[in-house]
Amino acid sequence: MKVFVSRIIPEVGMKRLLDAGLEVVQWKEKRNMEPQEFIDACKQCDALLSAGGKIDSHFLNECKHLKVISLHSVGFDSVDVDEATRLKIPIGNTPGVLSGTTADTAFLLMLSASRKAFYQHSRILKDEWKFFEPTADLGIELHHKTIGVYGLGSIGYEMAKRCVAMYNMKVIYHNRNNNLEAERELNAEKVSFDDLLEQSDVLSVHVPLSQETRGKFDKTVFSKMKPSSIFINTARGAIHNEEDLLQALEEGKIWGAGLDVTNPEPMRADNPLLTMPTVAVLPHIGSATVETRNAMSLRAVENVIAGLKGKRLPYPVNPEVYEIF
Ligand code: NAP
Repeated sequence: MKVFVSRIIPEVGMKRLLDAGLEVVQWKEKRNMEPQEFIDACKQCDALLSAGGKIDSHFLNECKHLKVISLHSVGFDSVDVDEATRLKIPIGNTPGVLSGTTADTAFLLMLSASRKAFYQHSRILKDEWKFFEPTADLGIELHHKTIGVYGLGSIGYEMAKRCVAMYNMKVIYHNRNNNLEAERELNAEKVSFDDLLEQSDVLSVHVPLSQETRGKFDKTVFSKMKPSSIFINTARGAIHNEEDLLQALEEGKIWGAGLDVTNPEPMRADNPLLTMPTVAVLPHIGSATVETRNAMSLRAVENVIAGLKGKRLPYPVNPEVYEIF
């Protein structure tokens, strides 16, 4: 059996694939494949382990022979899941091993924005560190403030946990359902979306990208937030409108922002957000530690092996695919 691996993945994952007796074809070039190249490569294989590349309806219909599509991520917005399910292709992801690491990134961004850390660092690089000014470029404190989590699931929980442990912050959240564990363990309070906007000192986005969440943070939404608030997005860039975010910052509708995900990606080097004192931007490194990427690759490989054996994936995105077999 042949597996197409669409990026260089950690060695432990590659080794596990080879130990399972699978033939591996890997894309090693440092550029995105053209859609047709991606299809042509997958046509030669029985399974796809994807760490990048759009898996839309056209791709799926061209590659409906694939026995499994295993994502090297927890997010699955790159896949037309409904179409995959209709074509009976199981999709796998890697939940549970990256939540703490991604929450660390959200926390890092919150702290960096609140203390203007990236901007202050850039001043040193520009030789602007000349003398001590007691009132210049002050940050804001986080102790006892309110953290609002939009999407309190695995990563949102880890972020809230860090905010409580470190700064004794009050936790409010907006989900469709109650997160009872967070209510019990973190004293989290479920609120309406508008209350989340109005009450959060830091608003951290952890919902998946979906029809309901795409473009959710726009001009109207930012204008309902506190002028002293910080917006953090480590989920997906398409959840916020970046021009509206810039305008909200320029007009003082919100105080700061921390982004691990941008809209579009990659962000251009001349984006004005990159030079704003209260903004911190990272190039989508949410889960990027050695330990976490190793664990993710092993989960992704487990999905590939199960799928090729015709077994239920251990981490399925579309378990309903088994109901229609
Ligand atoms: P998760 O455990 O499924 O949590 C998502 C939460 O969002 C759930 O609590 C869900 O609760 C809530 N939610 C979903 N749709 C909603 C809606 N329309 N309105 C309000 N709440 C909604 O997912 P996770 O593991 O925390 O991951 C979240 C996202 O983070 C992923 O989808 C991915 O896009 C992103 N991510 C980014 C990175 C990175 O590198 N920056 C790394 C990992 C993940 P209800 O169902 O009750 O609404």
